Amino acid sequence: MTDYRKIAALLFPQIHKTPEDYAAQYPARSLPEGAAVTRFAPSPTGFIHIGAVYAAMIAQRLARQSGGVFYLRIEDTDKKREVEDGIAQIVRGLEAFGIVADEGFVPGGETGAYGPYQQSHRGDIYQCYAKDLVERGLAYPCFCTEEDLNSVREKQEAQKLRTGYYGAFAHCRELSDEEIENKVRAKTPFVLRLKSPGREDRRISFADKIKGKIEMPENDQDLVLLKRDGIPTYHFAHAVDDHLMGTTLVVRGDEWISSTPIHMQLFQALGFKPPKYAHIAPIMKEENGSKRKLSKRKDPEAAVLYYYAEGYPAASVLEYLDTISNSNFEDWRRANPAADRWEFPFQLSKMSQSGALFDLNKLNDVSKNCISRMTAREVYEGIASWAREYDPAFAALLEKDPDYAKAILSIDRGGSKPRKDLAKWADAKAYMAYFYQELYQPDYTLPEQVAPADAAAVLAAYEKVYDPEDDKEAWFAKVKALCEPLGFSPDVKAYKKDPSGFKGHVGDLSTVIRIAVTSRRNTPDLCAIMGLLGRDACFQRLRAAKEYYQSAGASARAGVK
Ligand code: GLU
Ligand code: ZN
Repeated sequence: MTDYRKIAALLFPQIHKTPEDYAAQYPARSLPEGAAVTRFAPSPTGFIHIGAVYAAMIAQRLARQSGGVFYLRIEDTDKKREVEDGIAQIVRGLEAFGIVADEGFVPGGETGAYGPYQQSHRGDIYQCYAKDLVERGLAYPCFCTEEDLNSVREKQEAQKLRTGYYGAFAHCRELSDEEIENKVRAKTPFVLRLKSPGREDRRISFADKIKGKIEMPENDQDLVLLKRDGIPTYHFAHAVDDHLMGTTLVVRGDEWISSTPIHMQLFQALGFKPPKYAHIAPIMKEENGSKRKLSKRKDPEAAVLYYYAEGYPAASVLEYLDTISNSNFEDWRRANPAADRWEFPFQLSKMSQSGALFDLNKLNDVSKNCISRMTAREVYEGIASWAREYDPAFAALLEKDPDYAKAILSIDRGGSKPRKDLAKWADAKAYMAYFYQELYQPDYTLPEQVAPADAAAVLAAYEKVYDPEDDKEAWFAKVKALCEPLGFSPDVKAYKKDPSGFKGHVGDLSTVIRIAVTSRRNTPDLCAIMGLLGRDACFQRLRAAKEYYQSAGASARAGVK
């Protein structure tokens, strides 16, 4: 007859607290009915996948919209994968997207009454519950070596049996007290295993909040709870932590679905009420017509660093992740263009079961919309702080005259149809280049239908009437007035009726001026641009372009290529 209490005392002589002590130390939270306690529980490996931000964002939303708590726990039981500064990287990484936990690790440290929130600081807690399981005859030490386990596996394979440590193969279940005592006294290393009450021929089912009802065979393997070094496995730490920290809804990646029967069994053995689960499918990417997981190895956009380096505003990334998280988000956004994203009634049942599709073009569109709704000041701040880190020379240029930069960014901003030129801060330099002599590189390529000689004539005529004081209307009236004398149609419709009767229409004519001044065919309001550039720069650019076309026209006539 095994004396479980004696074995427990032998295995865990240093543990004096009991589960009751911890239950008293971490009482149930008092929260309103229906409030969800959720968490994000990363390992500090130094790599933050955009899918992790996605999961954290959803967990945070579920807590917030139910009046609950969202906390950040660090799962650092695997020291091999850990990097220095890993925790700070996670906290900062999430903060960059505006995700700050209510409890656990937050910028500046750790907060909350249910800590420590770092698994490596919870050793005694796990050992206490492990000891309790041994005392109740539900867990036992296994002294099998790597070789022992391998030879069992080989036997199982030879007999075409399921491999693993279960049933009759669970050798150390049967050790006598004496054998255990001798081994412990001889300091033989051991792992602690759960004595699985499960049976392979029985099934368990649970209701996943995203995937619906899931049914699987019961687990009958004697799961390792504590490794040889006394550190808990993910499974054991999950059950203990999520219970003591009061998690009601575990939001995690769906790679954990297959372990859920083990977790159910653990909660039961520990006498804990299991949480609800929401298993999120990984973010997918379409490639050559088929879907695959967004991959850390193949896809730069899998890493959050990519978004920092490209300068996507946090609001854009969140808005895009909202878009792919719920099928009805876009409709809601159309109906509520100015609403705060927190007002959206998020539903787990509206998440994709097979994995949301990630598309950079779509992100760019979403981000262009977001940026188009910002004030010039916000855009300026975004660009400048991005540039300070990723393009210091550009930052210096902007900061030499912030008002000038803000004025550039104000052109065609606001109003009901704002322009959507910028998807990310890294686009800003090219977008603003023609405003800065230091960055400007003339490119006088004309639309096909406009001959260089005609462009030269347009610029020669325009130079004579250009007046920096003109407002938009006067500016345009002058452009229009140039059309007929130069053989262009002031009226686009008239031109379209009889294209051969003209050299082009008013749009072509203004394009010539636009190219001369900005080297672009498409810009915001040209009159405003010229106003900012100022008379000297405008005259200088108009003349330079005119001279270029004059000589290009001359070489064309001379047959020079
Ligand atoms: N540390 C686990 C992981 O990074 C957490 C899984 C969970 O959320 O329970 O995959
Ligand atoms: Zn064993």
